[in-house]
Amino acid sequence: MEFTLSEEQEMFLAMFRDFAAKEVAPSVEELDHAERTPLDVLRKAAQQGFLGATLPEQYFGAELDYVSYCLLLETLARESPSVAVTLATHVSLAAMSILAYGTEEQREAWLGPMAAGEMIGAFALTEPDAGSDAAQSGSALQTRFTLTQPLPAREGSQTSPPDGGGSEGGAGTLDGVKTWVANGQIAGLFLVFARAPDGIGAFLVPKDTPGLVVGYREPTLGLRSVTFNTVYLENCQVPGANRLGGPGAGWEIAQRAQDRMAVALAAAGLGVAESAIEAAAQFAAERVQFGVPIAQKQAIQNYVAEATTEVEALRYLVYRAAWLIDQGRGGPFDFSVVKAHGARVAHGVTNRMVQVMGGYGYMEDYPLARKYRDVRALSIMGGPTELHQVRIAQKVFAEWDVEIVP
Ligand SMILES: Cc1cc2nc3c(=O)[nH]c(=O)nc-3n(C[C@H](O)[C@H](O)[C@H](O)COP(=O)(O)OP(=O)(O)OC[C@H]3O[C@@H](n4cnc5c(N)ncnc54)[C@H](O)[C@@H]3O)c2cc1C
Repeated sequence: MEFTLSEEQEMFLAMFRDFAAKEVAPSVEELDHAERTPLDVLRKAAQQGFLGATLPEQYFGAELDYVSYCLLLETLARESPSVAVTLATHVSLAAMSILAYGTEEQREAWLGPMAAGEMIGAFALTEPDAGSDAAQSGSALQTRFTLTQPLPAREGSQTSPPDGGGSEGGAGTLDGVKTWVANGQIAGLFLVFARAPDGIGAFLVPKDTPGLVVGYREPTLGLRSVTFNTVYLENCQVPGANRLGGPGAGWEIAQRAQDRMAVALAAAGLGVAESAIEAAAQFAAERVQFGVPIAQKQAIQNYVAEATTEVEALRYLVYRAAWLIDQGRGGPFDFSVVKAHGARVAHGVTNRMVQVMGGYGYMEDYPLARKYRDVRALSIMGGPTELHQVRIAQKVFAEWDVEIVP
């Protein structure tokens, strides 16, 4: 058992901190108020290799392990959860799905531009009437893929192996509506999930495909530098070469992507919680009431001590879950535990740190108010906490042969 970062990971961490301080921190408040995407930051992140963080060198990636990549998300989220969510959507949901399930032709076509930041990725699963059950079972998906050119006969299983097989499917059209698609406005490539004649399929749809229309940015409570958009698909033409993972593989692709995203979002939550404690502790050391700094009041110490304990516990859950991904191990239970706990800690800690800062914590003059708004999303996106608890309970009650359904 090893609880320390490697020398290389320590070196990366120093580089990530430098980047976050120089390139992310200066514009974060302004972009949040203007509800603008940090395009400049993304360009600079691409130059550092962050947009291809976990991709192999062969596809112009930085070849980071998932632990180092989570350190990157944690560090970025300390300054801007929006930047971390934008990057995680691009890398964990979109690019890594292509890496895991794409054919060699698909990887070569899409991953280079994605690593270079020329093409931002988005993940389009949720629909107006398919929220939790889209994420959990796919049963409510209404977006349809209609074949216009027959599929060649296939042998073997419904899902194709991770090394691909996606290019042999037939061409067809997509029709439906996808909601709250993160990166919608800036995406060059949408990974769209739809019901197909042979099961749920995953489709790579470039933004300029006729029949794909991106709606306006949905106004949100937090994460205001991420664009969340409705995506309309009407008679949207998809060539056979753009089917990812072959017929029926869509559901597995979505599940694995959401497992990676669960850990990524928990890493972002960890970063926000750490930075909230730092900000509130500094405030408490300087704010004088009743003739002494409020840091000397036990109520304030307890808030900070409890929050710090929760953050330290979360840190090891996040790093362990990232390590499991690096080992090709871990299952729904492991990823749901870290996702649910990460969201709870991020929300609980920022909430208490607002209390430590009193009225100043509530005012938008301080970054804490933004962080509090931002982390609220972590209990919903990537599957709401209640559904992750169902997956956790499924494992617990399996021991007693109790079947738990969502
Ligand atoms: C900030 C943000 C970013 C997002 N980004 C994306 C994205 O990039 N791509 C994408 O496809 N989607 C995205 N989503 C959608 C997200 O995945 C869904 O919001 C989520 O899956 C929940 O669906 P819903 O909001 O429709 O809630 P619903 O499914 O309607 O649930 C409402 C409430 O009921 C509870 N509930 C539902 N079913 C059960 C059950 N069986 N047992 C117990 N409780 C239950 C839920 O936990 C929740 O509390 C994003 C959402 C947000 C808020």
